[in-house]
Amino acid sequence: MWNGENLNCFYHPASPAVGVCKYCQRGLCSECAAVADDVLACKNRHEDEVHQLEQLTARNLFQSKRVRSVYMRNAIFYGLVGTVFAGFGVWQLRWLGLQAALFIALGIFLLYAAIANYLEGRKYK
Ligand SMILES: [Zn+2]
Ligand SMILES: [Zn+2]
Repeated sequence: MWNGENLNCFYHPASPAVGVCKYCQRGLCSECAAVADDVLACKNRHEDEVHQLEQLTARNLFQSKRVRSVYMRNAIFYGLVGTVFAGFGVWQLRWLGLQAALFIALGIFLLYAAIANYLEGRKYK
């Protein structure tokens, strides 16, 4: 063994390593290496561990629950503000005329943004 550099298989010191196990970082020759979720693992030893590691990483990267809650929070916020603006515009339409129509337009735009956020958030489960 040379200085921790995994150049040879941990289980067969005479065979050159093709990679290292994601779980134990030991060198693996082509006979000992198993592919689990696109990374290498010790065959019949750490395949399950590597699979779990990969799942954990994937979950952290995706964080779909958090993404979903951000979209839903935006949807509620835009929905409330949009309702207030549109409601204010309708209420003031008789007195403010065009200005009130702008409030209504803004309110509709915000409600549209709320729906868009809601639909986007629904994609993340
Ligand atoms: Zn291993
Ligand atoms: Zn080997």
